[in-house]
Amino acid sequence: MTLEPYRARWMTDDVVAFQDIARRFFEREFVPHLEGWRAQGCIDRNLWYKAGELGLLGASMPEEFGGGGSKAFMAAILLEQGRAGDAAWGISVQNYVSHYILAYGTEEQKARWLPGLGSGQTVAAIAMTEPGAGSDLKQLKTVANAVQGGYVLNGQKTFISNGQSADLVCVAAKTDLAGGSRGISLLMVEVKGADGFLRGKPLKKIGLQAADTSELFFEDVFVPQENLLGQEEGQGFRQLMTQLPWERLSIAIRCVGLAEYALDQTIAHVTARKAFGGTLFDLQNTQFKLAEAKTKLESMRSFVDSCLDRLVLDQLDIATAAMCKLHCSQAINEIVDECLQLHGGYGFMEEYGIARLYGDVRAQKIYGGTSEVMKLLVARSLIA
Ligand SMILES: Cc1cc2nc3c(=O)[nH]c(=O)nc-3n(C[C@H](O)[C@H](O)[C@H](O)COP(=O)(O)OP(=O)(O)OC[C@H]3O[C@@H](n4cnc5c(N)ncnc54)[C@H](O)[C@@H]3O)c2cc1C
Repeated sequence: MTLEPYRARWMTDDVVAFQDIARRFFEREFVPHLEGWRAQGCIDRNLWYKAGELGLLGASMPEEFGGGGSKAFMAAILLEQGRAGDAAWGISVQNYVSHYILAYGTEEQKARWLPGLGSGQTVAAIAMTEPGAGSDLKQLKTVANAVQGGYVLNGQKTFISNGQSADLVCVAAKTDLAGGSRGISLLMVEVKGADGFLRGKPLKKIGLQAADTSELFFEDVFVPQENLLGQEEGQGFRQLMTQLPWERLSIAIRCVGLAEYALDQTIAHVTARKAFGGTLFDLQNTQFKLAEAKTKLESMRSFVDSCLDRLVLDQLDIATAAMCKLHCSQAINEIVDECLQLHGGYGFMEEYGIARLYGDVRAQKIYGGTSEVMKLLVARSLIA
């Protein structure tokens, strides 16, 4: 008996149709160029425009901004990005910033920034992390002093995705030094040509080579009052925390796609390569390792599907999203490690997709909150 393929609830017919568009986009416009982008250390600007034209950048925005009105559409893109073997393109960051503006921006701010973010004319970054403040965000030192007509921004940010290409940077800064987390605000800084704004060189990393992760410097940068997100000071920490479940789920979703890629690559390799009078796949160890990897992949997918179902119903809580990110980022690292091993020496060679992935997936346990921070969040929920 042939069973119909299972389809999760969040995957409506519209999402499935959209996923098909995303798949073809990655096949045609992305995969053939990825090696070149890794060599140059960033994605071509043109890709943003192409993605904008196809509606990928505003996919989860409401219909008035050209989107499908649900984050499920973005989930479909992230799955396809992973299946294309990539985690470097900062399309998810673009999406997070759009959702900050949608959730907290004034009507004027939405009208000013969302169309550009949707078309690719504007590339966005989020600048929270600093040399002295990562997991403990309350320690951040970047300060925005109120002056006539706005703020003067001073500080340094590090590890910022889309750092070289960003036109609009959502900067977490203290507007009240004594206010603790209530002293943090989000300023939308239009950085192109801004006096006192400087980008450091792209950071050299052990993975995600196509990502232009950078340091950013703000020295007396004037930010007009109307660029304070939501026009109310001291809301930044709450705004960041409220969006983090989606951001963490996004990472987990892409891990599912990456796991599919790792398995596909490995199955292709072990069924083609001859050893001991058969193929590598004929060896029981290979079959067992792949069976384990596939089981992990399906456990990731089930968790992600259930989180997406909750998200669509507006019921995704912080701890569940943290567990999903914790589980999926751990599992993808295990899967890629085993799949690399099954490639033998070829798995260590950069021209093989599985070797690239080895470095790329390591970051999944770090950004969007480290695995340890995820455990803290889960642990806290146990006695809440
Ligand atoms: C490729 C990449 C892209 C990134 N992109 C962005 C971006 O676009 N924007 C941005 O703002 N940031 C970005 N980051 C930064 C990322 O979010 C931080 O690196 C991360 O939050 C950890 O902060 P940290 O590096 O300062 O490490 P630390 O906070 O110094 O942590 C070091 C270690 O201590 C552990 N630790 C810390 N606190 C605790 C605790 N209370 N209990 C137990 N263990 C703890 C951590 O888990 C970790 O293992 C990016 C990072 C990378 C690697």
